[in-house]
Amino acid sequence: MRKILVVLGLGAAVYVSPVEAQTFAVEDPVLQQMWQQGMENSQAYQLAQVLLDSLGPRLTGTPEQRAAHDWITAVYQRWGIEARNEQYGTWKGWQRGATHVDLIAPRFRTLEAIMHAWSPGTDGEVRAGVVVLPEVTDSAAFAEWLPNVKGKFVLVSFPEPTCRPDSDWEENATAESFERMKAQRDTAREAWEEGMERTGLGRELARQLEDAGAAGVLYGERPLGWGVMRVFSARTEKVPSIQLSCEDYGLLHRLAANNQGPMLAVEVAAEFLGEVPLFNTIAEIRGKELPGEYIVLSAHFDSWDGASGATDDGTGTVTILEAMRIIQQAYPNPRRTIIAGHWNSEEQGLNGSRAFVTDHPEVVEGLQALFNQDNGTGRISRISMQGLIGAGEHFARWLARVPQEIGQHIDLTFPGMPGGGGSDYASFLCAGAPSFFLFAHNWSYFPYTWHTNRDTFDKLVMDDLKNNATLFAMLAYLASEDPDRVPRLQRVLPVSERTGEQRTWPECRDGARSWEEER
Ligand SMILES: [Zn+2]
Repeated sequence: MRKILVVLGLGAAVYVSPVEAQTFAVEDPVLQQMWQQGMENSQAYQLAQVLLDSLGPRLTGTPEQRAAHDWITAVYQRWGIEARNEQYGTWKGWQRGATHVDLIAPRFRTLEAIMHAWSPGTDGEVRAGVVVLPEVTDSAAFAEWLPNVKGKFVLVSFPEPTCRPDSDWEENATAESFERMKAQRDTAREAWEEGMERTGLGRELARQLEDAGAAGVLYGERPLGWGVMRVFSARTEKVPSIQLSCEDYGLLHRLAANNQGPMLAVEVAAEFLGEVPLFNTIAEIRGKELPGEYIVLSAHFDSWDGASGATDDGTGTVTILEAMRIIQQAYPNPRRTIIAGHWNSEEQGLNGSRAFVTDHPEVVEGLQALFNQDNGTGRISRISMQGLIGAGEHFARWLARVPQEIGQHIDLTFPGMPGGGGSDYASFLCAGAPSFFLFAHNWSYFPYTWHTNRDTFDKLVMDDLKNNATLFAMLAYLASEDPDRVPRLQRVLPVSERTGEQRTWPECRDGARSWEEER
């Protein structure tokens, strides 16, 4: 391959390949081959399509998740990479079936609804009326009202006055009417929250309702974006717990509050499958010189199941899977051991990675660096040093060798603050091991795809995904070849503005290894 030497500014030399137009700071055949594999010969599209469309979401403890574990392990083995499903615990097995919710009086409308994860189903179709929670003065008054829920579906969320996202109001309303809407909404929400507090139930509300004979519990959604529903887990054990769209929840609430006799026909199917094993999938390319020192590529494998778990964390999963393929092609004999950690049950509290940290002290001890991805499809744009003094020098050296096309998007934050949660890097960082969250450009992650019914394959941005897989492969290579270990020296943490006390390094916690432990 012909290289043109370009001299920039004060003598900084870069090599430009005229064929692929990538710009390398140094001539390094491994990096060039990684670019070739990751950017020109990417398999990210095919891998993501199978994972997200065909296998689908990977809710903890579902048969779909188990099938996805078996698939990804087989993919690694086909590539000649050692991989295993490592059991660390058990969970309540559950499988989702159909959700059908129709308004049948005072008129007909099929409602946008999804049963929550681990919700019980119905026994066939249930036809019943709808009630809203009353305004009560105290918990005794609530207890007195409670028998009214018998045989009814209960609406338990604040009824949003508008399902237009605020961004739409900001763009189109007069300033006065936007302010008026927000003020009215704030007042109404506050009153509603105070009313909820007076019931004295908090998280126990759903259980109390089902014990009192409610037909089911229905939740509404805040309008963060158009058509978006977040689908988390049920708090009921006997009757269905169902998420409705902002619009359809509001419709039901207004019909009930105005005594217009709303009736629903609800049929939801769910099957409980007993205690099932849970796994992390671990793939490994053994180090040739320093097998007891590790680079870990990290992304959680589980997802919520309101859609396909595409950007949370299907993209992280494909990033590290494809990075391992690139590494196997371009750098099959690494100096240090390179591991891909596909962690389970992150969404329930980093459970899989926390179990791995407990079960594998040798990896924590020997960790050179861990690179975690978990906020969507975007190109990596920021990396915090997480309070580790001395890590910045390594990242600066590594990124100086990564091609300009990838490196130009990335800001390093130094020294940064140690993250205590939010994703699996925190399970290692609390033990002092150099672990980093590679923060992606956000692509409307929070309002639109995070834990929603819209988190689907089409949201993937393939150019950014290829960029990330190539970057992860390159960082693994550069960290593996680094002559020095990344130091574990921690910064002096600042005083907390809230407590006035000096902050301390986050403490490690055990992850739950069963559904029972989680409760
Ligand atoms: Zn996630």
